[in-house]
Amino acid sequence: MSAADRRIVVVGDSIAGCTAVRELRARGHQGSIVMIGADEDGCYARPPLSKHVLKGEAAEAETWDLSDLGITAIVDPAVSMDTTRRVVTTTAGIDVPYDALIVATGASARRIAGPDQAGEIVLRTFADVRALRSTLDEASTAVVVGAGFLGMEFASACAARGIAVTVVDVDPPLQRLLGSFLSDAIVARAEAASVEFVRADAPVTLVGDPVSGIEFADRTLTADLVVTCAGDEPQTSWLDNTGIADRIGVGIDYRCATAVPGVFAAGDVAYSRTASRRAPFWSNAVAQGKVAAASALGVEPTCAPTDDYFWTEILGLSIKVVGPLPLQGDPTVLEGSVDDGSALLQWTHEDGRTTIVAFGIKKPVGLLRRLARENTVSTT
Ligand SMILES: Cc1cc2nc3c(=O)[nH]c(=O)nc-3n(C[C@H](O)[C@H](O)[C@H](O)COP(=O)(O)OP(=O)(O)OC[C@H]3O[C@@H](n4cnc5c(N)ncnc54)[C@H](O)[C@@H]3O)c2cc1C
Repeated sequence: MSAADRRIVVVGDSIAGCTAVRELRARGHQGSIVMIGADEDGCYARPPLSKHVLKGEAAEAETWDLSDLGITAIVDPAVSMDTTRRVVTTTAGIDVPYDALIVATGASARRIAGPDQAGEIVLRTFADVRALRSTLDEASTAVVVGAGFLGMEFASACAARGIAVTVVDVDPPLQRLLGSFLSDAIVARAEAASVEFVRADAPVTLVGDPVSGIEFADRTLTADLVVTCAGDEPQTSWLDNTGIADRIGVGIDYRCATAVPGVFAAGDVAYSRTASRRAPFWSNAVAQGKVAAASALGVEPTCAPTDDYFWTEILGLSIKVVGPLPLQGDPTVLEGSVDDGSALLQWTHEDGRTTIVAFGIKKPVGLLRRLARENTVSTT
C-alpha cells in the first residue's frame, strides 16, 4: 500500500484531535483522514469558556475551521473498536476502517451526584457554559465543589458578577499543583474579593434532588447555584476490551504509541507510561497531537510529547507556569512582589529542574521558557 492510500482515523475533535489532523496534512499525508467527534458544537477551545465566555466577555466559543484540510468529519460518538479488523464503530452503527488510529477523546467532568440525583452542574463543554451563563444571571449565592484551577476560575466569574460564592475542598486552593506559597497568596486575594473558602475534613456530597447544596459531616450548605469542579475522567468507555485503556487512561510512550500496534493517543485521555498519571493541560494536548500524527505517518516528530506550560486566570490575575509541577517550598523572587499581585518567581526542584511562574506580571511565554531552561542546573 502506498502512503497516500493509508486511511488515518482520529477519534476526538478538540485540540488534540484537531492538532493531529493539521499535523498529518502539514507532514505531507495526502490520503484519507476521518475525524470522529461527539459534540454538536463542533471543534472549539475550552480555556476561554471558564474565563471570557462564562463572564459574558465573549458570546461564542473560539472555534476552528478545518475545511481547508480535505477531511471527512463525522459527528457521531465512537462506541467500540475492533483492533483485529482495525475498525471503529459509531453510535449509528457506521464502521470506519483505519490503517492508523489516533485516540483523542479527552476527558469528561467528574461527577459526584448519586445515581438518582438530578441537576448536577459541571463545567466542561460550551453547552455547559451556555446553561451556566443564564443560571448565573438569576443567582445571588453559589457553592463550588473543588478548588482547582477550574473551581477558582468559576468562583472568579461569580465574584465579578457580585455573587456571594463559597469554594469547598479538602485542600486549600490549587495547593496540590502550585504548593502552599501560591495557594496562600490566592486565598488572600480571594478573601479580599469576598470569595469564601471552606476546607472540608472529607469529600463532601451533594444534597437535594435536584441538587440544591452540599453536605459536610456536621452541616449542610445550600445556594442558588451549586457547581461541581471536581476533576475529570478520561473518555475511554468506547475502548473497553481492546487492551488500549486502563483505569488511568490510555498509556503512551514517547512517540504517543499505545500498547496496540497502529494506535496512538494524545491529550487529556492519555498518560505517559513513565509518569503513570495524566497531565490534562492544553499545551500537552497540542504537543501530543503533533507527535501522535508524526508517529502515525512513521516520520520523526518535530517536538517532545510533553510541554509543561500551563496558565490560568484567577480573580483578575493571570498566572503562567513553565516547568515541572507540583511546587514545594518558597520561591526566589526574581522581580516584583506577590503581595502587590505582580511577581516573577522561580522554584528549583531537587533534580535541578526549574519552574518559572509569572504571577500577575505580564511576561511573554517565550521568556518564561528561556528562564526555565537557562536556570536548570545539572545534578549529574
Ligand atoms: C473550562 C476549561 C478551562 C480550561 N482552561 C485551561 C487553561 O487555562 N489552561 C490549560 O492549560 N488547560 C485548560 N483546560 C484544559 C484543556 O482545555 C484540556 O487539556 C484540553 O481541552 C484537552 O484537549 P483534548 O483534545 O485532549 O480533549 P478534550 O478537550 O476533552 O476533547 C475531547 C473531544 O473528544 C470528543 N469525544 C469524546 N468521546 C468521544 C467518542 N466516543 N467519540 C468521538 N468523540 C468523542 C469530545 O466530544 C471532545 O470534543 C481547561 C479545560 C476546561 C474544561
